[in-house]
Amino acid sequence: MQVKVRLSKSIVGPEEAAAASRVILENGFFGMSREVQAFERELAEFIGNGREVTCVSAATAALHLALQACGIGPGDEVLVPTITYVATFQAVTASGATPVACEVLRDTSWLDVEDAARRITPRTRAIIPVHYASGTGDIAAVRELARKHNLRVIEDAAHAFGCTYEGKPIGATGDVVCFSFQGTKNITSGEGGAVVTADPAVAERIRDLRLLDVLKDTENRYRQERSWEFDVVEQGWRYHMSDLFAAIGRVQLQRFEREFKPRRVALAKRYSSLLAGLDQVRVLPLEYGSIVPHIYPIYIEDGRRDAVREALACEGIETGIHYKPNHLLTLYGGGEACLPVAEQLYREMLTLPLHPALTEHQQDEVVAIVRRVVEGRAIPSHRGRRAVAVRA
Ligand SMILES: *Cc1c(COP(=O)(O)O)cnc(C)c1O
Repeated sequence: MQVKVRLSKSIVGPEEAAAASRVILENGFFGMSREVQAFERELAEFIGNGREVTCVSAATAALHLALQACGIGPGDEVLVPTITYVATFQAVTASGATPVACEVLRDTSWLDVEDAARRITPRTRAIIPVHYASGTGDIAAVRELARKHNLRVIEDAAHAFGCTYEGKPIGATGDVVCFSFQGTKNITSGEGGAVVTADPAVAERIRDLRLLDVLKDTENRYRQERSWEFDVVEQGWRYHMSDLFAAIGRVQLQRFEREFKPRRVALAKRYSSLLAGLDQVRVLPLEYGSIVPHIYPIYIEDGRRDAVREALACEGIETGIHYKPNHLLTLYGGGEACLPVAEQLYREMLTLPLHPALTEHQQDEVVAIVRRVVEGRAIPSHRGRRAVAVRA
């Protein structure tokens, strides 16, 4: 079946192409230099509160460097909600530390802070709240728990670029905050990520570590110079951002407020009102407007998630599962631990298409199919397919 409605999509066009072309034709340099510097400055201005921004190759790299720069490594434990992209867990294992899977709350899929508190041991060094579906959750409770137990708070804000918490942009407050500019996120640079922190020592460490820990290489590159006589003090990584990607990201940042944000917010609000009154379908209780949704998951509580998914697929509508709980993955215990709330959500979750190019007509079609299946009305079989929504 051909895909008619995509789950997510990069919204890029002539402006991004012109920016990339400018770097290719005028600069002739794809490494890290003035475009990255400019993108970092513009991001810092957007986030405000005097925060420093360091761009890297991906949010996974951002999380990995944040952990390393905070001195977290082998023997240390890091609390992570089990429902997140595997990138969050992989970043922890990349640092040498051990991710400790925590429960999430049934209504928001956000970290269950009380469950996380019960998992603290003398080895616990950090907590990574994930802004799931752009919901900013109870960050205050996470910060309070961290303060009590002397933990670093590294926010996985891959879904939350452009969201606000208590009136301030995500990134403007807190310890260390990591963003993703991967293709489907709220803004994209092709691939990319950023770390925002108020801790100058962590910021400085990250700036070196992204360039193989070649000390002060960032400053030289921003002057379009290279470092030849340098020192390295610890294991670093090739995690810097390219000027080519930064040029694309700069255009996307300009388009965010006027195009992407209003469109994503309007579509999410529209989904929520179209789905209201469907008893079998639960939506996240999020305040769209102060948050800018990256994904739109729904929860189908009567065992028909797969039937809904199949019916949508039959009409060429892509859906997602955000996410398989990480404690079920072989590398992270293969289900040895039991996290019943997350496991129940895993059976119910279904992510509906959401991106700025989704039309209202497409959205109506998606909702009509969801409604038809959960209300148990048979879908007229056509093209030789059997009806998928007959009530058992
Ligand atoms: C996309 C995503 C990441 C990883 O982002 P990359 O930039 O692709 O490395 C990490 N965490 C979450 C929750 C994500 O959605």
